[in-house]
Amino acid sequence: MPEKRILQLVGSCGECPRYQYYSGGTSKCIEVDQIVRDKHVVAPFCPLAPYPADIIADQAETIRVMREGNDTLFVFLLLERIGKKLNAIRKDGTMVLEIPLKEEGKTVCLDLHYVDEERSRLFPRPEIRFKYQDSWYILDIEAKPPILKKVVRHPGGSEAGELYESVPLAV
Ligand code: SF4
Repeated sequence: MPEKRILQLVGSCGECPRYQYYSGGTSKCIEVDQIVRDKHVVAPFCPLAPYPADIIADQAETIRVMREGNDTLFVFLLLERIGKKLNAIRKDGTMVLEIPLKEEGKTVCLDLHYVDEERSRLFPRPEIRFKYQDSWYILDIEAKPPILKKVVRHPGGSEAGELYESVPLAV
């Protein structure tokens, strides 16, 4: 039998490629051939190995920062964390991070006033969606290496129809 590999983070059965509709309104895990009762969590019989501990620790830290109750503290901790990850510089006295790109001399600015809070998410991994100039960007700081992508088409406002263009980061 071939060795198993985890291709991506799986935070619940509902987002796992092995979760499939079975019959009579029930779905099952085709990996272990068992009915999944709650698609919002990972079933206790899940055979997937946990994601590497250092990445989990990284994510826990980001979530801790993002959950801070104090808005001001939250903003500064978040900026500090993203800045550290991306070697980005915070513009003096602002909530704007200048993120260096691989292309020499180019940057993208993450201004916390232009974060789409509704479509940014914490799970299964933190993803920040923000506007810079006339484009929307999606930042995944927990990927190794971190990933920045630009939304290049957004037909009818539907997320399902989005296309992305990778924007190489300097880190
Ligand atoms: S039990 Fe594990 S492998 Fe099966 S669907 Fe759920 S997350 Fe995927």
